[in-house]
Amino acid sequence: MIDMRDIICPRCSSGNIIKNGNTVYGRPEFMCGDCRKHFPENPDIREIA
Ligand SMILES: [Zn+2]
Repeated sequence: MIDMRDIICPRCSSGNIIKNGNTVYGRPEFMCGDCRKHFPENPDIREIA
């Protein structure tokens, strides 16, 4: 299971994320509720320590 609370928008950093089915690769896809950007489960996010 994916913890939605850990997902933020890669464009606007919003935590208002809506699940939006799956990508063509079978991975969960999400949509930002604020800027409407679609993005996969794990975009190229690098944790900033
Ligand atoms: Zn956004």
